[in-house]
Amino acid sequence: MVIAGLASRLQCEVVLRASVPASPAENRMNVRIHRGAHEIGGSCVEVEYRGGRLVLDVGKPLWAGWDEKVPLPAIRGLADGLDPSLAGVIISHPHLDHYGLIDQVDPTVPVYIGREAALLLDAATFFSAAGTTLHPAGYLVHRVPIRIGAFTVTPYLADHSGFDSYSLLVEAGGNRLFYTGDLRGHGRKSRLFDELLAYTPKGVDALLCEGTHIRGSARPEVGGADTGRSEADVEHSLAERMRGTAGAVAVLSSAQNIDRLVTVYRACLRAGRTLVTDLYTASLADAIGRETIPKPEFPSYRAYVPNRQRVLVRESGQFHRIDLVRSCRVFPEWLADHAGEVTLLQPASTVPELLRTGVLVNGAVVWSMWPGYLRQRSGERLQQELKAASVPFVLDHASGHASVADLRRLVDALSPRSVVPIHTEAADRYHNVFGNVTLRDDGEWWTV
Ligand SMILES: [Zn+2]
Repeated sequence: MVIAGLASRLQCEVVLRASVPASPAENRMNVRIHRGAHEIGGSCVEVEYRGGRLVLDVGKPLWAGWDEKVPLPAIRGLADGLDPSLAGVIISHPHLDHYGLIDQVDPTVPVYIGREAALLLDAATFFSAAGTTLHPAGYLVHRVPIRIGAFTVTPYLADHSGFDSYSLLVEAGGNRLFYTGDLRGHGRKSRLFDELLAYTPKGVDALLCEGTHIRGSARPEVGGADTGRSEADVEHSLAERMRGTAGAVAVLSSAQNIDRLVTVYRACLRAGRTLVTDLYTASLADAIGRETIPKPEFPSYRAYVPNRQRVLVRESGQFHRIDLVRSCRVFPEWLADHAGEVTLLQPASTVPELLRTGVLVNGAVVWSMWPGYLRQRSGERLQQELKAASVPFVLDHASGHASVADLRRLVDALSPRSVVPIHTEAADRYHNVFGNVTLRDDGEWWTV
């Protein structure tokens, strides 16, 4: 009993110590990275000012499997909603490694996210585990400050492969923390990156800077293989490939990568082809409802509903979902007949049925996602199937993350008092790229 009592007291002390800064600086902002100081993905940051707290992202680590439950970081009030000093959670963008643990957050904790990001995640729930329905207390709007507890947060819409992504300026008591979230300067919204460089927030004390492309190699990478290509490059090379392919071109991508949807559609228009998306992609574009995003009523647009999605609709009884594509729906026979005139934008799981129905005869398949997935079993199987069918398989992708050169431009423009690494596997390499770097560990409280 004595030992059990001691153990539980020790446990209480550990929890207490973990939840209060070791030496809280009263009028300063205190920050603790819960995950991401030495890891890409699973980002979670707690910010504290005079006892009030705010959480930036509650990501699921990339190492966790789809069905694997990862516990929430130890943040008071996050799981039970019982601590009013927790003012809210901000989700910077709708990627699992930034929002993936949100379902474990108590529903009374206020959540903030971009409006279109919330629409996208909600529409995704029918098709994928990478979706969720949120009930945001407020929405992030580009350069419009919002007050959350003791904090003023100004979102900056960012160029990223995740849709409706924001960097965040968090201010309290004259202290300023800028969290990049995930961003790049070479996507479809690169003007936002240029705008951030031209009209930077002033007086940033600490910059929490993503460094996905800062690598553990001896020399800092400046525009390596994954970072050298832009969305515009992909648009041009895809158009070229469409012109040079006799049959259908199938581009495999994530339905949630809306930038890539626009890139592929623009490439189709350049090459005089019709874009054929799946129902998932069409549903996301419809849910977001923005005029500039290709959707079923657009010219040169058709939809093919792959078997997996047909089964989903049938088994759920939600046949109204097909209405969205009824007027532009095509079937394998039509695709095979018009192979040289179409480019399919589909999930990788559609490839076997395209092979079976002859749609890919004289065609080509383009992998337009992170190449790391190809090392997984499903990726290897896909390559074997295409090889057996003699269908050319190529990679054409632009990274969702900034090149080291662009990160350097960002840091120069913001000129923060200190740069703190996050969303990186090479924090110890930041010194090679920037001055005034301060390394922080997961779980460590520090003062801005
Ligand atoms: Zn992301």
